Parts: sequence; C-alpha cells; structure tokens
Amino acid sequence: MANWKVSKKDIAKLLTQWQQELAVALPSKEGDTVRMDRWDGEDTSFLEWYRNTVLPVKASFLPSMEEMFRFHRDEGGYQLEPLGSEERKELIFGVRPCDASALAMLDMVFKDGYQDPYYLSRRKNTLLVGLSCTNPYDSCFCTSLGSTPSDSSNVDLMVTDIGDSFFIEEVTEAGQELIAKTSGLEKVTEADDAGAKEVKDASYQKVTKKIDTTDIANKLHSCFENQDHWEKVAAKCISCGICTFLCPTCYCFDISDELTKKQGARLRSWDSCAFPVYTKMPMENPREEKWRRVRQKVCHKYEFYPMNFGVIACTGCGRCIRLCPVNWDITQTLASLPTQG
Ligand code: SF4
Ligand code: SF4
Repeated sequence: MANWKVSKKDIAKLLTQWQQELAVALPSKEGDTVRMDRWDGEDTSFLEWYRNTVLPVKASFLPSMEEMFRFHRDEGGYQLEPLGSEERKELIFGVRPCDASALAMLDMVFKDGYQDPYYLSRRKNTLLVGLSCTNPYDSCFCTSLGSTPSDSSNVDLMVTDIGDSFFIEEVTEAGQELIAKTSGLEKVTEADDAGAKEVKDASYQKVTKKIDTTDIANKLHSCFENQDHWEKVAAKCISCGICTFLCPTCYCFDISDELTKKQGARLRSWDSCAFPVYTKMPMENPREEKWRRVRQKVCHKYEFYPMNFGVIACTGCGRCIRLCPVNWDITQTLASLPTQG
C-alpha cells in the first residue's frame, strides 16, 4: 500500500472525481447539528470547522428510522412489497477513527451475530475515508481504549492534514483501487512522511482525558447488585436517551407498523435502554427504575459486550459526555466504582 498527497486547494477537485462514481457524503452543519450528508459538489468549508459529527456515522448504516418493507391487503390477504434492491455506491469522507472503530463493533452484531440485510448492503457499498483528528474535544478519551486520533484500522483511506496538503494513506484494497483511478495526486516525500508522523504524535498528546480499563468488567460485575451506588450514579440522569442515540456503538432498535386502511409499512427506528418504556411492547420493562437503566448502559458497554464479543463497546468518542443535557459523565462513573460490591 502506498501513500499520496493532494494540495489542499485541490480537495474539491478530488471529491468531484470521486463523486462521478460514488455518492459522496461529508460533514455538514445545520444549526448546531453536524452530520454526514450528501456533498453539494462545491462547499469544502467543513475543513475549517469540523471536529466530529453530532450524529455518529452509524446513522449512515443504521438510520434513525427506515422503511423495511411495505404491505397491502387484497382479496388474498396481506401481501408484502419488498423495497427495491438498488445498490448505491457511496463514499463517506471525514470519518473520525472513533466512529470507524464503532462500525467494526456494529459489524459484530449485524454481520457476525446475525445477518442484517439493510445494514450489510449499505456497509458493503460504502467506502470510508478517515480524517485524522487534529483538534480533539476535552471529552474525547479514545487513547484509553486502544485507539488514536489518527488510527487507520477501520477505514479504506486515511487522510491527515499536513499543512498545505493532505497526506493520504491507502489502507484497504478498495481504497487502493479508488486511488488507482484518481488523478492529480502526488507521491509523498520523506519530509511528508515525517510531517504526517509529527501531526499524529501531536494529536495523540492532545487527548488528555484518560480512563483506566484494567479489570473493568470484573469491577462492574462485583458492584452489579449495589443499588445504593447505582442510585447515586443515576441521580441526575433525566432518561432523555441522547447518550444512547448519539453513541456510535449503541444499536437498539424498535419495529413498528404504520397502517392506513389497506396498506402500510414496517418501520425500524432507534430505541434506547434509557427510556422507561423500552421493551414495553414484547413484555414489561425489566428495568423500571432509572438506576437499573443507567447501570445497563454502562455494563452493556464495559461488561456484557466484552463478554459476548471480546471488546469494550465504547470508543471514547466523548459524545455521551459533551452532549448530555445534565453533564452525566461515563468516565466519572467508571472511575468511581466501589472496590467492594
Ligand atoms: S444523555 Fe444524560 S440525561 Fe440523557 S439519558 Fe444519557 S445520561 Fe441520562
Ligand atoms: S459510551 Fe460515550 S464515549 Fe463511549 S462510544 Fe458511546 S458515546 Fe462515545
């Protein structure tokens, strides 16, 4: 795999080339909300203000709401109308390493756990172009979870800002194939390699929030029944669900039917274990009290998911800290676990 560079003033030309073959999405702002959205073919101003999206990249693969299929009723009863199977090739530019690693975790559920055709078709048809973080938030703690602000493990191409140019690393074969079809790129020099390393090292140092994950699953396990502790932890939470909706590794969904007289659609939409009505439809919510729901959120990420898949289901993206309306902080919760149950 080779490395390349492109002058910053030519980034729109590069994206335009890619746009001829692929639907290009990149960071886009509406009010305070930043999300990956279809590129308009001109505006690259996100390069000035972008730190990370509010809506994680998971929304491009598991949308907040999607139609699974439609149905209608005729003389023969209900008839299903599967949605068309148009496979759209996409490229998402500017994915942060924390969100890319979250997709690798979602793959464990939607690809390895069971085969989810909706998620998998989007995943298979999407190229991820990562963008190293050079200005992480105070709430970011990815370096405590085995990643870095320039981790290229889960993207097809990795881009790093090295001043007047972007340094581009080929990571996967799909990324390499895209580069082979791309014109206007220059070979990198030793000075560019050194420049990229310097930027990456500096970014690593900028992530100052740290957590200690040593033996974390066992620590959580041993205080699982400690109601007093979890009530204190949960005291200020208002069960709004923002931390779970915006968490790149949360994947709970609900399924509902929208009906008119003789036709309807089956919808899938995000759900949250923070809600008192969670799982109310199939049975009663086993976590009526708030402290049980907050405990579930923490234990799912740091105890149960590692038990099932061998990795902690938190990337340290910090969204649940900076976007919580009451400043609940998962890192404080993890640091304050009682040593005895
Ligand atoms: S965002 Fe904050 S208040 Fe809302 S459910 Fe999460 S922890 Fe509770
Ligand atoms: S738990 Fe919080 S910090 Fe961890 S991945 Fe989810 S939103 Fe990010």
